[in-house]
This record gives sequence, structure tokens and C-alpha cells, in this order.
Amino acid sequence: MLAAMSTRKMSSITVASVLVALTGVPPAMAQARAKPPKSVRLYVFDNGVIKGLDPATFHFKKEEIAVADMVVCSYLIVHPKGTLIWDTGAIPDANLKPDASPVTQGRFTATKGLKSQLAALGYAPKDINFIGLSHYHADHTANANDFAGATWLVQQPERDAMFSDKPPAIAQQAQYIALKDAKTHILKGEDFDVFGDGTVVVKAAYGHTPGHQVLLLKLAKTGPILLAGDLYHYQEERGTDKVPTFEFNKEQSLASRAAMEALTKKTGAQLWIEHDLANFNKLKKAPSYYE
Ligand SMILES: [Zn+2]
Repeated sequence: MLAAMSTRKMSSITVASVLVALTGVPPAMAQARAKPPKSVRLYVFDNGVIKGLDPATFHFKKEEIAVADMVVCSYLIVHPKGTLIWDTGAIPDANLKPDASPVTQGRFTATKGLKSQLAALGYAPKDINFIGLSHYHADHTANANDFAGATWLVQQPERDAMFSDKPPAIAQQAQYIALKDAKTHILKGEDFDVFGDGTVVVKAAYGHTPGHQVLLLKLAKTGPILLAGDLYHYQEERGTDKVPTFEFNKEQSLASRAAMEALTKKTGAQLWIEHDLANFNKLKKAPSYYE
């Protein structure tokens, strides 16, 4: 018994040292590297909540909004030809706790790091080919610097504002500064078909910020989904002309909303408001996925 145990122990030590020698990574840290899927997958990550918001900031009375708290989420799109991360959370992973106990910064509270949620799927930031931010507000950019090795998909007016001498309001330039030197694909309002087959398309939806953008996905089983970013914050805004008090350009926002509502009507796409907590609670979260 003792002999058998020590033999097993020996052999596991040998396997471990071979793994470290081959990969430079201790076995407990080694992640099974994800294989490309046959069709496009959408993973939804949990990046926490925003609490204590006043609906008046959105021109609503308290009783007019069903759920005032917002979720912070981000998405990984895995295409047979590559990967795209869309938004990166509100609290940087470095500020979160290893035991996943809640951390609060201002109105943001989060438990799970973005990179740990990626790692659970078999991806590290270096495996991500493209990064897109719906816009530059701080609740979408917390971990953007981690993805500076990817190609950044950004609208010209958004990038101009992000790196202007007078940085924009509600932005934390330090959180995305590394993107300044990233390989960058600049968009000027035209659609961008990320993988060339029409399944993952970046669309301009300016107004909330100078170059706010959304993502239209065509999934084989689920059908089309529009990841709408902050085109709206609450379901109750749809069908009204109410925009947040901190909107960059109200007229642009209303025009973008009209265009996106027409698009969802034409394509039959579901419109997912990124901060919609009630909708988020119903969604499959990573490691589950939509395909
Ligand atoms: Zn937001």
C-alpha cells in the first residue's frame, strides 16, 4: 500500500515536472487551450452591478423604472476564424479579490474577474484577436489594457475623443491607454464585417458618445442578436425620446436608435441592452454559450 502510494506520487511528480519543462507553466495553472468551434459562439461575462442610480439621470421618475440597478457585462465572440472581446468591465481585475468576495468602487460592485472568466473557457488575453468597446465610458473599459495585443476596432470620433488633450467625461484614460499603440482598425461609420462572412458585424450608433458602436451577430441556432451597448440603459427608454442627461449628442442618439430599431425589425434580431439587469438574469452566462 505504502509502496503503491509512493509510486503514484513519484509518477505524478514526474508528469508535473515534464509539464513545467515543456510549457513553463505549473500544471495547476495550465489551461486546456480552447479549440475553434464549428460555428459562432457568444459567451456572456458577469462584471458586476451598478447600484444607487437615480432614474432622474435618465429623465425618469423612480416609479417609471422597474429595475433601477444595472448589470455590467461583457462578451466574448468566438468565430471559427478568431476571437473578439466586446467591452471589458467596470472594475479592473487587479482590484478584485482572489476569493471572489465582493469589491465596491463607487457605484460599482463586482466579484468575478474578466480574465478568470476567460481562462475558464481556455483563453488568455493573448488568444484574443480583436477588441471592441461599445464606447469609452469607465464602466466598459476597466480591463482594456490587457487586450492591447489584439486589433482594436474603433470609430474615428471615439478614438479622437479618447486621446484628445482634454479627456472626455466619465472616462478613465489609464484603463485603455495601452490601446493607443495597439494595431487599430479605424471605422468612420461604415459597417465592419469582422470575420468576412456576415456573422459578426460592427455598426456605428453614435450619440451616447461621439463614436458609440454596437455589434450585430448572426448565430446559427439562436438567430440574430444586436449587442446594443448603451444605445439604451433601460427598456423603458425604448419608444421615447428620453436620453441620459450625460448624452454626448441627443439628436445623434435618437437617429441611431431609429436606425437600430429598423435594423432589428428587418433582421428579426433580439436587442440586448447591455446594462439591462432583468434581461441579464435570464441569459446563459459563460461557460454556457449561445450558438
Ligand atoms: Zn455603460
